[in-house]
Amino acid sequence: MPELPEVETVRASLVDRVRGRRIVELRTGAFEGVLGPLGVDATRAGVLGRTILDVARRGKYLVVALDDGTGLLIHLRMTGRLQLEPGGRPPLRFEHLAILLDNGDELRYADQRKFGRVLHVTPETIASLDGKLGPEPLDEGFTSGWIADRMRRRTGRLKSVLLDQRVVAGLGNIYADEALFRAGLHPERKASSLGAEEVERLHAAIVDVLREGIDNRGTTFSSFADGHGASGTNQQYLHVYGRGRSGSPCTRCGQPLSVVVVGGRSSHHCGSCQPIDQ
Ligand SMILES: [Zn+2]
Repeated sequence: MPELPEVETVRASLVDRVRGRRIVELRTGAFEGVLGPLGVDATRAGVLGRTILDVARRGKYLVVALDDGTGLLIHLRMTGRLQLEPGGRPPLRFEHLAILLDNGDELRYADQRKFGRVLHVTPETIASLDGKLGPEPLDEGFTSGWIADRMRRRTGRLKSVLLDQRVVAGLGNIYADEALFRAGLHPERKASSLGAEEVERLHAAIVDVLREGIDNRGTTFSSFADGHGASGTNQQYLHVYGRGRSGSPCTRCGQPLSVVVVGGRSSHHCGSCQPIDQ
């Protein structure tokens, strides 16, 4: 599932190629639900003739900003892919939407599981994202003080709190597990039990794993690709995510890794490097 580094990789791979381009047509496939409740006709009427000013990211959302202040709000969810193709190429596998641009390129959305959406939204909806999401973890507003404050107010487990998008925008299962390993913190710790030094370690670990994920152009297990179809390489550098079930050895201490389910999400960790009793 695409998290901040994957969505950022898609954004960065597309923005210079679509900025300034005018939308000349929309083409939908069999699954028109990709456009959400607005539907095909209203979406087409809203975006045709509009020029793309920018491709921005907020948490796990992409926002294709248009010249009338509206935008296309895109959430890739599980298996969504946004890809730029020259016109005339055959459809992508599981392609549901193509946004045709004035230079002949097509911005195409494909999604095997069909959970993702491409929604034409108002300026107010775009602005409201800030109210629903915590700070961007790679921006200055994301500090250890912010984390400490959120953790103090919570009765939940550390892993669950980290996945709350109001606490850290863009963090998901992969990078949360990697950050907890790097910080030496057990996913089932009570969030409110963290000491100041532990919060500092967690803050640094979150920033580091996300930066590395972006540097490695995202984590690809099955379907993730950038805006030109290229896979990421970050899966080669993961320490715990996906390795707990097989009991693979910890890269730090050599003990077998484990999995525990926290808030319904599998949490891969090292019981030795991330002790529960601290
Ligand atoms: Zn270990």
